[in-house]
Amino acid sequence: MPDLSEIGPAQPLSTVESSKRNLQKTLRPRVYEKILAYNDRMMDGVISPILRLKINRSLCNMKCEHCCEEPYMTRDLKKRTGKEDPRPQMGLEDYRRLSEQADQYGLFRFVLTGGEALLDKNLGDLVKALDPYKHLIVLDTNGYYFDLEKAKWFASIGGYKAQISLDSFFAEEHDKFRNTKGAHDRALKALDAAKESGLELLLSTCLVKGRIFTEEFKLLIDYCESKAIPLYVSLAKPVGSARGHDEWVCDKADVDALKDLEAKHNIFTHMTPSYGQPGKCITVKGINTVNHDGEIMPCPYMDMSIGNIMHESLDIIFERGMLNKWLGPYRDECIIGENWDFIKWHNTVVSNHLENSPYLPVPYEQSFALTESF
Ligand code: SF4
Repeated sequence: MPDLSEIGPAQPLSTVESSKRNLQKTLRPRVYEKILAYNDRMMDGVISPILRLKINRSLCNMKCEHCCEEPYMTRDLKKRTGKEDPRPQMGLEDYRRLSEQADQYGLFRFVLTGGEALLDKNLGDLVKALDPYKHLIVLDTNGYYFDLEKAKWFASIGGYKAQISLDSFFAEEHDKFRNTKGAHDRALKALDAAKESGLELLLSTCLVKGRIFTEEFKLLIDYCESKAIPLYVSLAKPVGSARGHDEWVCDKADVDALKDLEAKHNIFTHMTPSYGQPGKCITVKGINTVNHDGEIMPCPYMDMSIGNIMHESLDIIFERGMLNKWLGPYRDECIIGENWDFIKWHNTVVSNHLENSPYLPVPYEQSFALTESF
């Protein structure tokens, strides 16, 4: 079993986080109940990860330079194989069953992502199937279609939060990176729309090596501060479209500078101990991605599965993940961003798999099952 002494003490909640949780007590009592239960039992090894749902075959209206999602998209599969992914895709009933299992397990957060999740015509039905009063429903969006009307609609169906992505504060740079004219302008308008609709909100941005020291990044921080928008930073990983782009991977100087900024501004990564959680790598225990066909990946940047929710129960999959020698331990490092033994192994397994099959992620039996358990 993972060494729980490695978790370290739970962090005290910020005032803002405490008041948000109190609000859930009235709006979503079941969510509040699950948060309390999780806080009480975290030190016993209980986990309550976010489930990040990749929906609608990851259809997207943009084509970004370092997108990890491209190999999962129909447009890319059609280019490579001439047809869309033939594997059975999760439908509303499957999502409903997943929501029930998640609720029983004590999970309380779903992130809807793609591609661009807003392109899913069944989004309203999906939110309903997931039950937005038993879970916090968070929408990942590039903001292009998230105008005021859409933001109000999302709030009205029980949506909790919008996470709007922006890769550069300079319009020209962002639009070029996204291969979409007007993307920057629409993203800024989407941020205002989310706020006006009463949604929780954050701006997410991807950090490549050196960006943290630029004037552009400083302007982005100033913008977020002036609008009181939390800034969520993810670090580029040498996987997906960025495989082979080691020059994008942040080094210690970038990471140290980021830590300094986190102390001074409302900036965080998914390893920041800002939600009463220890700040460590969160494979399995903090976030899991559910692919369109039910495969569960223990980290948003890994293309390998720990099991398929269409065939196995959530608790069996989580238990298996927590027992894996790479995934279970509470590590200080990001294994897919910093541990070159893991990165090489991961990328070799993925490349070998792609020689025989165009479909990702690599199933459990051909990936994590080949590594040791505790
Ligand atoms: S491996 Fe890295 S990106 Fe993945 S969960 Fe851990 S810290 Fe996050």
